[in-house]
Amino acid sequence: MYRWVSCGRGIVSVRGEDPLFGGRYIVDPYQKCDLSCVYCDSAEECIYIKHDILERLKAECKDLERKTVILGSSTDPYQIIERRVGITRKVLRFLLEEGFPVHILTKSCLIERDIDLLRRGDVRVTVSISTLDERISSILEPKVPSPRRRLETLRRLSMDSVEVGVAIFPIIPFLTERTLPEIVELAKEAGASYVIYGYLELKGDVRIRFFDVIDRSIPSISSRLRELYRDSFRPKGYNIDGRIREICKSHGLRLFHG
Ligand code: SF4
Repeated sequence: MYRWVSCGRGIVSVRGEDPLFGGRYIVDPYQKCDLSCVYCDSAEECIYIKHDILERLKAECKDLERKTVILGSSTDPYQIIERRVGITRKVLRFLLEEGFPVHILTKSCLIERDIDLLRRGDVRVTVSISTLDERISSILEPKVPSPRRRLETLRRLSMDSVEVGVAIFPIIPFLTERTLPEIVELAKEAGASYVIYGYLELKGDVRIRFFDVIDRSIPSISSRLRELYRDSFRPKGYNIDGRIREICKSHGLRLFHG
């Protein structure tokens, strides 16, 4: 279900600079996300489309310093409804015409539609891939293009001179480590110059929904995973930072940790 809503603000300032995504401002054309990944707290039945975001931005951006805008910090700016309504495209064009550098985060290949804008502006695109295992991806990210298809998006953008990187997000203990070296290797081959990563966090309803799916579809890891998250929303005692650092170093990729 989709609802058109008026937004209070079009652009939000980050205190200092976002340490992970390197932006000074955040713009989200949508609230919640129809790509419905099982592990995400933005996955909802009802998606809010901010119909007046462009008008808000025009009013709010006049006096702002031209620092990096993160487009799609908590919801995917290229989620399914964007193909019909095109709000992200309008917002992106406006930001670039106004001289803002833009950092886009997405799991969707729909971003290729806007390659004409991306290649002309000061833009960085981070494509998120948590695993190359098609089965696991289809269980956890059923509406998102396959991981290999997302690598192809990286390649296409990079061939068009857009700076690209990969977000290995979220890292799920016992489930996504296996293909991690290959993600880094193939992302590098596709033109990525950096890696962002972060561990799965499980809070509130997402925790219930996530373990429902794991119990049903991948029960072999369920009890070990539950133990890691027993009294924490982060995986307690699980840390593969060193391994990721080594992998990225061996491929000459910059690394940011969330
Ligand atoms: S695409 Fe991103 S924002 Fe959308 S549901 Fe998946 S993880 Fe959440």
